[in-house]
Amino acid sequence: MTREEQIADELKEEMAVLNRRILRLNQWKESGYGEPCQEHDWEMTRGPFHQVIASNPLTFILRFKCHRCGMTMEQQAVVEQETLFDEWQEYRENKENKENKGDEEE
Ligand SMILES: [Zn+2]
Repeated sequence: MTREEQIADELKEEMAVLNRRILRLNQWKESGYGEPCQEHDWEMTRGPFHQVIASNPLTFILRFKCHRCGMTMEQQAVVEQETLFDEWQEYRENKENKENKGDEEE
């Protein structure tokens, strides 16, 4: 690559950065957002999606956005309890096991 080509590439990159900043400025103007609210009006935008955080396999991520001021918020939610229900229990084949319900011991 010649020196001239290198300078042209750098200028193109600077122009791309400036274009992105102009687009961002226009997005801000069109948003109508002002100062952050005192009390946000959160709406969930993404999630809950599963994520392993600090070796906890039952962490879920929820993303929120305030449509009034445009701020975003992320919550990490940990599952505290899991309860299994079998609404089809009476139709299953091995009915004799169901006599002592809820007890895993044999
Ligand atoms: Zn807000």
